[in-house]
Amino acid sequence: MPSDVTTYELFIDGEFRESSGEERIDVEFPYDGEVWASVPDGTAADIDDAVTAARTAFEEPEWLGLEASDRRELLNEIADTIDAHASELAELETRQNGKLLREMEPQMNVLGDWFRYYGRLTDEIGDGRTVNVENKDGQMFNYVRHEPYGVVGAITPWNSPLLLASWKLAPALAAGNTFVHKPSEETPVSALRFAELLTAETSLPDGVYNVVPGAGATGAALTDHGGLDKLAFTGSTAVGREVAKKAGENLIKVSLELGGKSPNVLFPDADLDDAVNGVMKGVFAATGQTCMAGSRVLVHEDIHEEFVDLLTDRAGDIKLGDPRDPETEMGPVAFRDQWETVKHYVDAGVEEGARLAFGGEMPDELPGECFIQPTVLVGVDNGMTVAQEEIFGPVVSVITFGSEEEAIELANDVDFGLAAAIWTQDMQRANRFVESVRAGTIWVNEYRVVAPNSPFGGYKDSGIGRENGPEGLKEYYQVKSVWYDHAGEVGDPFSLDVE
Ligand code: NAD
Repeated sequence: MPSDVTTYELFIDGEFRESSGEERIDVEFPYDGEVWASVPDGTAADIDDAVTAARTAFEEPEWLGLEASDRRELLNEIADTIDAHASELAELETRQNGKLLREMEPQMNVLGDWFRYYGRLTDEIGDGRTVNVENKDGQMFNYVRHEPYGVVGAITPWNSPLLLASWKLAPALAAGNTFVHKPSEETPVSALRFAELLTAETSLPDGVYNVVPGAGATGAALTDHGGLDKLAFTGSTAVGREVAKKAGENLIKVSLELGGKSPNVLFPDADLDDAVNGVMKGVFAATGQTCMAGSRVLVHEDIHEEFVDLLTDRAGDIKLGDPRDPETEMGPVAFRDQWETVKHYVDAGVEEGARLAFGGEMPDELPGECFIQPTVLVGVDNGMTVAQEEIFGPVVSVITFGSEEEAIELANDVDFGLAAAIWTQDMQRANRFVESVRAGTIWVNEYRVVAPNSPFGGYKDSGIGRENGPEGLKEYYQVKSVWYDHAGEVGDPFSLDVE
C-alpha cells in the first residue's frame, strides 16, 4: 500500500477494529483517479459484531436510561463537533465523490442543524403524551409512550454521504435507537471519520453508532441480519425493492428514500432567466448526481426555442474542473462505472430519436476518466428511456407541452414521484399543479431546496416514509398505549369497553 494512502478499519463499539475478512476497497479521487484511502470490505461476521455491539449498547442504562432532554444535549454536542470539523469533513466528501468543495463546505456548515433540530424536537414532544379518554366516568387514565425501535440498520448512497446518513442518524438518536451504518463503497471514509469524531468529542456511548464499510454484499448481510428492529435505506429503486423484501421477511419497519425522475415545468409566464437558473440548479449542480435532479424539463411550446437557446448557452459556459477549486462549477461524475451509465443513457437518447443540443462527450483537457459535459437532449418524447429512467448525471431531457392539462399529465407520467417544480407567475395555476402532481416535494419558482424541519420523501417508486421534519422522527419510534384503571372494579367481561 503506498504511504500516501490512509488505511481505515471498521468502527465498532467505539473503536477501530480489523475486519474478519481480507478484502479491501480502494477509495479514489474521481478528479484524477488517485487512490487515497483504503477501507475493509465488511463481511457478514463484521456486520454481526456491529449489530451485537449496537444491541448491547441499546440495552445499557447509560443509553436506554437517558431522558429526552439528555438526548437533546447529546445531539447539540454532535452538532458542535460537526461545526468544529466542517472543513475537514467537506474535504473528505469532495475527495470521495468529486462534488464541489463550494457545495460541500456549506453543506457541512449546516449539517449540525439536523442534529439541533431533532434535539429540539425530542425536547418538545418528550417521550410520550397523555390521551384524554372518558371510559368509566373518567376513571381510566391512558397515555402513549414513545419508545425507540432498538437497533437501526442504515444503508446510504455516495452522492451526499454524511448529509443522507445524518437524515437517519439524527432522528434515530433523538428517539433513542442505536445504529449500524453501511455507507456506500464509493464514499466510506467520511462516515468512519465522523464516527471517530463523535466518539472522541461527544458523550455518545460506545456502540451507539457503528460503521461497517463494504460493497453491496455487506449491505445485503445487514438486511439479512435477524437482529435489527428497523431498516433505513437511501439508494436506487432496484436495491430499495430488495431491502424492502428483506424487511418484509424479518417483519421489521423500513423506510426507503429512492430514485427520481423529477419534472421541472416551465410556463410562458415564467421569468425565463430565473427558470433557466432553476433548470441549471436542478440538473447541472452536483453534476446531476442528486436524487431530486430536475432531469425532465417540460417546456411550453411557445417558449421552447428561446429556452433551449438560453440553456445551451449557459451549459456551454459552465466551468468544469477540479472540485476543490472555488471557480469550478461542475466536477466529475463520482466514479467510472457511473460515467459509463451516464454515457450509455445519452447514446440511448440519441438512438431513440432525441437531438443532442449540447454536450454528451468527455472534455479533452481534463484529467481522469470521469468528466462529462453538461448535456441537453431536445425533442424528447416522454416515452423514451431518457424520459423514464433515472440517469443520475448532468443530462437534461427537454419535452414540450401545449396546455396546462398536458403538462400535468406528462409530469405524472413516470414511475417516480420524488420532486417536481413549476415556473409561473400565476399562483392559481401553481396551486392546481401542487394539488395534481404526485410527488413528495414541490417547488414553485425554485429548485433543490431542503431543510431539517420540512419532510422529504417519495410518492410511487421514489420511496416509503419521510425524512426530515416531525415525520422523520416518527420513522424511529414505536408507540405504546398504556391504560390505568383506577376505578377499583373491572366491568362486564363480555362487553368491550369502547368509547
Ligand atoms: P445503490 O442502490 O446502488 O446503493 C445504495 C447503497 O446500497 C450502497 O451503500 C450499496 O452498497 C448498497 N447496496 C447495494 N446492493 C445492495 C443489496 N443487495 N442489499 C443491501 N444494500 C445494497 O445506489 P447508489 O448508486 O449508491 O445511489 C444513487 C441512488 O440513490 C439513486 O437512485 C438516487 O436517486 C438515490 N438517492 C435517493 C435519495 C432520496 O432521498 N430519495 C437521496 C440520494 C440518493
